[in-house]
Amino acid sequence: MSHRTIHLFRKGLWLHDNPTLLGALACSAALFPVYVLDRTFLEGAMGLGPLRWRFILQSLEDLDARLRALGSRLYVLRGSTAAVLNDLVTRWGVTQISYDTEVEPYYACMEREIQALAQERGLQTYTHVSHTLYDVKRIVKANGGSPPLTYKKFLQVLSVLGEPEEPVRDVSAEDFLRCSPPAEPLHEQTYRVPSPADLGLELDSEVLWPGGETHALQRLHKHFQSQGWVANFSKARTVPNSLLPSTTGLSPYLSLGCLSVRTFYHRLRSVCAQSKNHSLPPVSLQGQVLWREFFYTVASATPNFTKMQGNPICLQIDWYHDPEALEKWRTAQTGFPWIDAIMTQLRQEGWIHHLARHAVACFLTRGDLWISWEEGMKVFEELLLDADYSVNAGNWMWLSASAFFHKYTRIFCPVRFGRRTDPQGQYVRKYLPVLKNFPSQYIYEPWKAPEDVQLSAGCIIGMEGLRGTWVMRKPYDFLKWNSNMSPSNGDADHKSRPWTPETLQLSGEVM
Ligand code: FAD
Repeated sequence: MSHRTIHLFRKGLWLHDNPTLLGALACSAALFPVYVLDRTFLEGAMGLGPLRWRFILQSLEDLDARLRALGSRLYVLRGSTAAVLNDLVTRWGVTQISYDTEVEPYYACMEREIQALAQERGLQTYTHVSHTLYDVKRIVKANGGSPPLTYKKFLQVLSVLGEPEEPVRDVSAEDFLRCSPPAEPLHEQTYRVPSPADLGLELDSEVLWPGGETHALQRLHKHFQSQGWVANFSKARTVPNSLLPSTTGLSPYLSLGCLSVRTFYHRLRSVCAQSKNHSLPPVSLQGQVLWREFFYTVASATPNFTKMQGNPICLQIDWYHDPEALEKWRTAQTGFPWIDAIMTQLRQEGWIHHLARHAVACFLTRGDLWISWEEGMKVFEELLLDADYSVNAGNWMWLSASAFFHKYTRIFCPVRFGRRTDPQGQYVRKYLPVLKNFPSQYIYEPWKAPEDVQLSAGCIIGMEGLRGTWVMRKPYDFLKWNSNMSPSNGDADHKSRPWTPETLQLSGEVM
């Protein structure tokens, strides 16, 4: 009961199911909820782009408002985490630091610094795992000391461990009653959440994914109003090019720490318990959450998980180095409307459907450009709101057939894939308005439209300098590796590739 505690918020920016905060409150006479805006760390180690920055600032505003409603507040400070904590320990007479433990190497490194500080200053530390369903170390241990590398094996290990812990109760005003530290002079100015402008961030795009626990819980509740949808969810049946998300859209909230995955999982479990014929992993919603756990587990015990070199589970591939093609992919200028529309949505909104991620990731790597998955992963890291160390790298390795999945000749056609679920091309028209007047017949392959059709659609394909028209590059201009490839052929011919099936251990799990 006697500690003066700093509770360090890092990813778990929520007050529901927060065992670390709850435990710290129970043994403290004063508790300071702190967030350190460590810009070098956030932009360097975590590769934060502007959209994620905005999401985090909104999440901090929300956390502050929720804490204030309970009689406390958030203290936001800028600087390097260890140095800020060191100062605060002296300023506030701190005896304990509490925080959630995380698996990412950069967080683990920060944790070592906090432990060193604690030792030097004679402080206690109080920690818990909150960002995953299990302490992933337990899963690795139960699998004999190495991570399970297939989902099937992973589920077998979980069946031995039993269900993940239930969420703990929400933090309440009573918990803070005896722990609220006295207000300091200039409190508001010193510790407030900065605005994007304060940080020099220029953001004028519409906010489609407002950050914060409040929005996360609202989104969760909205989905659970339709229990049939939740119980029958099947990932493969969701639509990559629907104009509104056809899946839960919870990933930014799970990834950046506005929603407890245990809360989500146990809500799913209770819906499935009430439904006779619910879907099952890997395609069910529970299955999706377990994919997340799977990648966290493997990442936690795999050196150089986000790299090809030095990564023991990753095939070593002689990828092409082609900065021009990479730039065209990154900036939505490949000339394939389906690919460019997805990359435009990603750039503008920070979220794309899972199968849309499949399409662009396959295109960049094994499908068309033969560029390393690491390059794609870095672009996703910058642009995705839900960018996540373990899940991003894990999925990129999967999609490039570098790890987990090796049916490398199963290629997504950049024309037919999108057309299957959106034959009129509404999605392409939304994100590439320059093509909006093309007849549906040509919307996925506008280069095939006769010249008069292109003229009346107001967009001439691949011809520079025509008055009053927008020029869209023809595809293949930069697809040097295989000039015979026809996008409408579907599967491309990979005979010229450096891989041969003999170099691969084939596996065929469906994600
Ligand atoms: P839902 O289908 O509603 O699933 C619910 C939750 O399950 C998701 O929010 C997510 O936390 C988890 N989940 C779903 N699919 C996967 C999956 N394949 N792997 C791991 N967890 C999953 N997801 C991220 O959260 N961060 C990333 O950085 C990320 N990078 C990806 C990169 C590539 C190349 C690909 C193919 C997929 C990536 N994904 C990533 C996985 C997946 O696409 C997203 O989690 C999902 O589309 C998010 O939308 P949702 O919340 O509506 O998902």
